[in-house]
Amino acid sequence: MAGGRLAEGAPADRIIRGVSKDTRTLGEGSLYVPLIGESFDGHDFVDAALAQGAAAALWQIDHAAPPVGTPLVIVDDTLAALQRLAKAYRRELPVRIVGITGSNGKTTVKDMTAAVLSTAFEVHKTEGNYNNHIGLPMTLLQMSPSTELAVLEMGMSGRWEIDLLSRLAEPEVAVITNIGEAHLLQLGSRQEIARAKTEILAGLQAGGLLVYNGDEPLIPEVLPEMAEAGRMQNGEYTVTRFGKGCGNDLYPLEIAADAGGTRFKVNVDAQTQYRIPALGGHNAINALAAIAVGRHFGLSSEQIAAGLEHAVMTGMRIEVMHLPSGLTLLNDAYNASPASMRAAIDLLHEMKGYRSKFAVLGDMLELGAQEAEFHRAVGAMLDPAEVEAVYLYGPLANDMAEGARSRFGADRVLHFTDKEELARALASQTAAQDLVLIKGSRGMKMEQVAAFLNDSG
Ligand code: ATP
Ligand code: MG
Repeated sequence: MAGGRLAEGAPADRIIRGVSKDTRTLGEGSLYVPLIGESFDGHDFVDAALAQGAAAALWQIDHAAPPVGTPLVIVDDTLAALQRLAKAYRRELPVRIVGITGSNGKTTVKDMTAAVLSTAFEVHKTEGNYNNHIGLPMTLLQMSPSTELAVLEMGMSGRWEIDLLSRLAEPEVAVITNIGEAHLLQLGSRQEIARAKTEILAGLQAGGLLVYNGDEPLIPEVLPEMAEAGRMQNGEYTVTRFGKGCGNDLYPLEIAADAGGTRFKVNVDAQTQYRIPALGGHNAINALAAIAVGRHFGLSSEQIAAGLEHAVMTGMRIEVMHLPSGLTLLNDAYNASPASMRAAIDLLHEMKGYRSKFAVLGDMLELGAQEAEFHRAVGAMLDPAEVEAVYLYGPLANDMAEGARSRFGADRVLHFTDKEELARALASQTAAQDLVLIKGSRGMKMEQVAAFLNDSG
């Protein structure tokens, strides 16, 4: 199945009960897959894996010959072999697969979809964010023969990565959550990002379903290109569009926030009240994608609503923190792009019952040539009727400051070159019953502002 051959003298009677790429988590009877990274070579741990109970291991042919008699399968390339093995295993199981890609909301939609489908099926889902060329095959290999449905996240940072993942998984349903600006630097244009996401059609099964965000005009624009370029295994598919706009097949009727969650109704079954344990209008839109998938698999509105209500959101990154000082933080410092900034700022605007609200924003990285424009646009999204003051950090945030000053008085837009200084100034301006949004790209480490506010009581 991995496309290899037994090493000389290797025992041919091993039973393999799982696949592992890490000796620290290797299960008894597993096949050990020695991957090669920039700073490590898994072949160094083959002995350890076998000593720990691995049934066998793969071995890349360009490595020095192993001792005769070791239970090894010689392959051209251990990563390619892992992928072939995953695809072959997936094809042996009667499982039906949902693949999910998009710029933002993949993990959220994956968790919501799995929660919905779990009301009626045995479901396997991508753990955490295990969504790449290694994580996806590993996820496929963790399916059991009794798995009925698998919900898989597909991530990328360039062209033809989703194409590969879709061909490995061969989904019956493909979901595109949205098109944002993440990876704009690598891809050059939003159109090219849209093309990269529509690569999910590559392995879609004949007669499969594509569920996509119909608020994004670029998706239907580039959609035909995959078929035209002959990149699809099967030509025919149907489409369901979801989104805010009432031109979509599924759109929300009334969205209302409540404590720790969001309620909404949907045009296709207006009598059903849906509730998700996640904040923000963008999460109601994410839920529409999960609802569309649930309906495809024949679930009733009641089953879907029950699944969503109890969804376990491992990917939820906006963390609501209640500090001892009485200050509430919306800590979304994990990462930022223009689309997720908009989602977070909308949420800050929507949240009611606070004395004053503040935005603490850092640079958005990797946006390419238009980065200044994106930062100005984010600054200009902030509503002076909802937000008391804007605290900014980082060189690119100077452009956010410019955008914000187009709507706020200059004294309400503060720019800092030091996070501790920012946090000190913010602590002196805020009081109990205030709400503070903290967000920026991973490299900006904006969580340090949250930590400082927490420590300073
Ligand atoms: P990653 O590429 O890191 O795997 P992801 O696509 O899996 O991200 P999530 O983990 O679900 O995305 O969400 C990450 C953040 O993106 C959330 O905290 C939220 O700020 C934002 N987000 C989620 N859904 C949307 C959406 N539909 N539109 C815009 N922003 C969103
Ligand atoms: Mg994710």
